[in-house]
Amino acid sequence: MNVYLIDDEPLTLVDAGPNSGTALDELSRGIAALGHSLEDIELVILTHQHIDHLGLVGLVASQSGAEVAAIDAAVPFVERFTEEAQADDDFARDVMLRHGISEDVVSALRAVSSAFRGWGARADVTRVLSDGDVLSFRDRELQACFRPGHSPTDTVFLDADRKLLLAADHLLGHISSNPLITRPRDGSEGRPQALVTYLKSMELTREMDVDLVLPGHGDPVTDHRSLIDERFALHRRRADKLHRLIEERPRSAYELAQELWGNIAVTQAYLTLSEVLGHTDMLLNEGKVKEVEDEGVVKFEAIES
Ligand SMILES: [Zn+2]
Repeated sequence: MNVYLIDDEPLTLVDAGPNSGTALDELSRGIAALGHSLEDIELVILTHQHIDHLGLVGLVASQSGAEVAAIDAAVPFVERFTEEAQADDDFARDVMLRHGISEDVVSALRAVSSAFRGWGARADVTRVLSDGDVLSFRDRELQACFRPGHSPTDTVFLDADRKLLLAADHLLGHISSNPLITRPRDGSEGRPQALVTYLKSMELTREMDVDLVLPGHGDPVTDHRSLIDERFALHRRRADKLHRLIEERPRSAYELAQELWGNIAVTQAYLTLSEVLGHTDMLLNEGKVKEVEDEGVVKFEAIES
């Protein structure tokens, strides 16, 4: 994953990497190569709650005394990481069982997820940001713009003068960001429509006047509008394909995932399920399919037009 150092006052790190010795070594070396040390960091900006971005934030802050800035929606998760991550796993378990993934796959995936949790760690957020807030530096300003979808807490940071956007995982060049279905942060019940939320967020980003997008993984993006248009087209095609499959006969989301990707590795089960449910949400909202419950498992059924 990518970490960015903003050589300004305050000296600022954007994301910190996963919580591992290897990542900490790599981070320290990278900062040293730019003429600073980890202890010099004055501000850490967190782009979203995922462990590969959050893991070392607390450690960097405690070693350097840096402030930690994050969007308000992320604060409970970041500050109570272990409990919140556990609650997310419980939520994911219910979603998986409800959408046709078998008990044994769900159990296997929970074991993987618990092991992964070690890459994350809690941190204290000392600067709570609201959507639209501006962070001021000696030589620049960054505006925090809330863009949920890939996760419920994605935030992009706009340097309008330089036409530069720190987009983290909201927009990736080499792969389409997975709109992972995550327990709603506002305590509301039910399954959030992650992809629908994500598409709305991308529409806002498409309007931004930027020349360079710095993503959370992979290479910079120079033409964000064409990339976003490609993503819109991809999601439309995938929704239409699923619609055709559902027209053949009612299917659960997991059956649809298997139709699209064949045999799915256990570790990919929730990712692919999130992907499918994103598209069935589009079809539900368009009135093309409905959910029918069959012995505790949801099947999607076509609505005759
Ligand atoms: Zn992410």
